[in-house]
Amino acid sequence: MSAISDNLQVIRQRIRESAVSFGRYDSSICLIAVSKTRSADEILLAARRGQRDFGENYAREGVGKILALREKFVDTTAPLVWHFIGPLQSNKTLLVAENFDWAHSIARAKIAERLATQRPEHLPPLQVLLEVNVSGEASKSGCAPEEVLPLCRLVMTLPGLTLRGLMCIPAPSVDFAAQRRPFARLYALWEELRKEGLPLDTLSMGMSDDFPAAIAEGGNMLRIGTAIFGART
Ligand SMILES: *Cc1c(COP(=O)(O)O)cnc(C)c1O
Repeated sequence: MSAISDNLQVIRQRIRESAVSFGRYDSSICLIAVSKTRSADEILLAARRGQRDFGENYAREGVGKILALREKFVDTTAPLVWHFIGPLQSNKTLLVAENFDWAHSIARAKIAERLATQRPEHLPPLQVLLEVNVSGEASKSGCAPEEVLPLCRLVMTLPGLTLRGLMCIPAPSVDFAAQRRPFARLYALWEELRKEGLPLDTLSMGMSDDFPAAIAEGGNMLRIGTAIFGART
């Protein structure tokens, strides 16, 4: 398990290096440790090495770990932050609304409306990112770029939700220039919306194999699993 601690240091260093080489300020880049399929004890180890943001793909599995970590780890000055990053179906919105801090994968009005209704009043608003399909045919998840503006406007009217930005999961590619293209498209869309006056400050893009390309294109929230926790079995 000490591999997790070493990996975290290596990733933080690589993020700093990428940030410097692309003229970015590395403190503006949030690292989410994607802990799907990992145990609560592995998450605890990362938390004890200063990791605070965790990403889960499956609502029920994620909630189990959120509750377990509440028992195992307390830091009132910097509490853990839980991001739901998996596909979001109607029957899972309640679990997400009641337990997570962020939801990254909203691509339909109906899902946003359910989350808004189900978010408990005693919790701060759920921080929302809209997932955009920036790879066209190659990816089935996310809304089309032209659907983003109306969806943003809808989310801004919903109580219990705070619109923060955009997210994408491009088709994998091994070539750095090819990896940058979909990220550049998401950045351009984000900038366009900001020029329309929308209050967006977050671009969730980049995973273990392509995060330097995401940093090059302005990503400020990275979702990294394998490079921290090792290969999923
Ligand atoms: C699993 C997953 C990640 C992390 O992927 P790695 O390649 O393990 O870093 C990031 N984002 C989403 C949406 C995922 O499902």
